[in-house]
Amino acid sequence: MNRALAAHRGASKLRGLIPGAKLLAACLKKAVTHVEQVRVRFAPSPTGELHVGNARTALFCWLFARSRQGRFILRIEDTDPERTGRGGETPILEGLAWLGMEWDEGPDRGGPVGPYRQSERLALYHQYGRQILHSGRGYPCFCDPAVLAGRRAGAREGGRVPGYDRKCRDRGEEERAQLRTAGKPHALRLKAPTGGHIVVEDGIRGTVRFSHEDLDDFILVRSDGRPTYNFACAVDDHLMEISHVIRGEEHLSNTPRQLLIYEALGFPPPRFAHLPMILAPDRSKLSKRHGATSLQEYREQGYLPEALINYLTLLGWSHPDGVEIFSPAEAIAHFSLDRVSPSSSVYDDGKITWLNGHYLRALPLDELARRARPFLLARGYDPEEARLLALMAVVRDRIARLNEAPDALDYFFETDFPYDEEGFARHLGRDGLPDLLDACRGALAPIPAGDFNVVAIEAAYRSLAAERGIRAADIIHPTRLAVSGRTAGPGLFDIMALLGKETTLRRIDRLARALRSARRS
Ligand code: GLU
Repeated sequence: MNRALAAHRGASKLRGLIPGAKLLAACLKKAVTHVEQVRVRFAPSPTGELHVGNARTALFCWLFARSRQGRFILRIEDTDPERTGRGGETPILEGLAWLGMEWDEGPDRGGPVGPYRQSERLALYHQYGRQILHSGRGYPCFCDPAVLAGRRAGAREGGRVPGYDRKCRDRGEEERAQLRTAGKPHALRLKAPTGGHIVVEDGIRGTVRFSHEDLDDFILVRSDGRPTYNFACAVDDHLMEISHVIRGEEHLSNTPRQLLIYEALGFPPPRFAHLPMILAPDRSKLSKRHGATSLQEYREQGYLPEALINYLTLLGWSHPDGVEIFSPAEAIAHFSLDRVSPSSSVYDDGKITWLNGHYLRALPLDELARRARPFLLARGYDPEEARLLALMAVVRDRIARLNEAPDALDYFFETDFPYDEEGFARHLGRDGLPDLLDACRGALAPIPAGDFNVVAIEAAYRSLAAERGIRAADIIHPTRLAVSGRTAGPGLFDIMALLGKETTLRRIDRLARALRSARRS
């Protein structure tokens, strides 16, 4: 057990024995509360992806550990083949690292209470399974799992609680020995209390009561030797000296079972806190149809880890000053479970996109370019460094995610891009536009290619507009369509300068030609 915790508990016991020890116990409590080593674990199954809900759980564990100068431990719960995805644990480790949540102990870096993969700890579960059996707190169950599964399904259909009928609980030792000798496979069940209730003191939702009637004699070790989640989890949380179990609300119903296991093994339980659910905007369970759900997908869609971690922190926690944009360091400085709401959080796509846009604009330009480059390369765009910087400067205010960069910049790389249909149709209706485009070309032609910059282009356009007695917009709009194929975008003169004189003129000619031929046909 956590040594500080043990000292504190010892002091509490002393209180009853020695007169006047009350004060001493109180002082000691204060001292040990101060030095108590907080140890928090994130315990994912290696499903091959880090789901956004699990990432939020990991984040709150990490924030809590860091806010209390504690340790953050990663444990892989890989004893259930159904929960073990093909991709294994790697995407989970990568996702955590990408978000910047470094762990102090884990399967990849070891630690004092390893191994950190449950599949490597089977001997420990068997050892504690034997302890429970020998102490009489558990018993072997010889019931056929298929028969029990059928009964459970029947109970559910009939609207009854699908509990075990405790058939094997009262078998005599002799009968058990016979069944064992006959080679009958058996599981280990906990002998759970049959009446009364058990209380979970939850750090977020307060006192939660569970009736023992709803907790049957559940299985600890299956007949094939695999521990159940509850058993392995309780044994590991104890052996790994976990001080606080922080996990999703879906595990709240497991907590009374785990408390019964602690009690049967004589282990002091850790403290528990169950985080609120994350729901989709329609208040259903968040799933693929609502968009990205795994960290890998967020990454591929060009979300920044800074934005995601900020957003995930807001899913259940609020900053005491009410601010919504803050760094992990700031969240750590203010983090406490008191500020975690027990009610469900609703996932808001608009908000995460807004936050992402904020972080994207806050990045230094060279960093933004560095992060955007892989997205451009995936589209086959490979600009030189200086050009990439210039391009990113032009579009940074117009994208909210990095994966929007290739679309936002495509006309800098493509030559035969199509024209926006509506924009083209609108300009087609304007009499004399092809001639006006010729005039634009004529106004730009005298600028030397080396001086084809924003100031020179703007001056040429303003004097053309003045000469013709038209608004600058009358030439800016068609020129934008000519050079980018679009009706909206970054500053036109910036685009033209970046494209260079030759390309700009070629594109103006191309639109004039396209309008003339469309008018003819
Ligand atoms: N392996 C469990 C899960 O992935 C962990 C639950 C817990 O934190 O106790 O949901």
